[in-house]
Amino acid sequence: MSSVSCIELIAFLDAYVDDELDSETRGDFDRHLLVCPSCRAYLATYKETIDLARGAAEREEDLAHDAPPELIEAVLTSKSRRPKS
Ligand SMILES: [Zn+2]
Repeated sequence: MSSVSCIELIAFLDAYVDDELDSETRGDFDRHLLVCPSCRAYLATYKETIDLARGAAEREEDLAHDAPPELIEAVLTSKSRRPKS
C-alpha cells in the first residue's frame, strides 16, 4: 500500500513537518502532496502557524532578557523571604 489519504496526511502532518517519518512514509506523503492541492494548502497554512508560534516564543524570550534588574532583584528577594514550611 503506497497511497495516502488526506485524513492520514493531516493526522501525521506534525511528524512530517518535524521530519520524524520513516523515508517510505515520507515518500508517500510527498507523492500525495504532489497530486493534492488542498493538502499542499493545508501544509502551507500549518507551517505558517508554526512560524508564527516560534516568532512569538522568541519575542517572549527577548522580553525576559529586557527585564529590569530591579524587577529580577524584587522577585529573588521575595522568594528568599518566603518562610520555610
Ligand atoms: Zn490530500
